[in-house]
Amino acid sequence: MREANEERTVGRLRQWLKGKARIDPKGPTAYIAAMAVRDIIILPDKRLRSKSESVKAVDKSLRALVNDMFETMYAAPGIGLAAVQIGVPRRVVTMDLAKKDEPKQPQVFINPEVTWVSDEKATYEEGCLSIPEYYEEVTRPKAVKVKFFDLDLKPQEIEAEGLLATCLQHEIDHTNGVLFIDHISKLKRDMVMKKFKKAAKKTVGGKSLAEDQEPSHHIG
Ligand SMILES: [Zn+2]
Repeated sequence: MREANEERTVGRLRQWLKGKARIDPKGPTAYIAAMAVRDIIILPDKRLRSKSESVKAVDKSLRALVNDMFETMYAAPGIGLAAVQIGVPRRVVTMDLAKKDEPKQPQVFINPEVTWVSDEKATYEEGCLSIPEYYEEVTRPKAVKVKFFDLDLKPQEIEAEGLLATCLQHEIDHTNGVLFIDHISKLKRDMVMKKFKKAAKKTVGGKSLAEDQEPSHHIG
């Protein structure tokens, strides 16, 4: 999930500063340097509609995937990422909801599943790293219970509300091939799809011409 509008500029600046800090020889350890920012797949890529497979074991490749997901998420910048968004259809979600002045709070959810939702609803303006520069209000249950496994494959359960509840629902949707635009009106969804299909058609040599265009923050 992408940060809210007002956070984006600050996020980009932080990212730039983080990049600068990396030049410091005392900065990255070999472990961090081994992480890689992966390409995030974008609408209308059909892989976003695939249902991800459950994780059976936490091995070296899964840990590498989680590391890359954090690196990719922080670089974007985003507050949540599902593995399928980097083209890996496994049920893994990374998240960090720390505010800009707070220390990092990386969270990993393996095989996350919503087990309960509140009747009460909440509305947040959502964005998605796979649907860049598009934001729309989405109404979802205000609170949820989610069961998942941690990186030691120990079962966990949390009750969440507010931004965490929204972000968990958004990311768990991804593991089921569901996007936040599925929760808005068909009229708005059709307009977004049309815009991204058009942009994809204009892609030449791996670079989308849409990147050169002014981002449209509010469609419809
Ligand atoms: Zn998303």
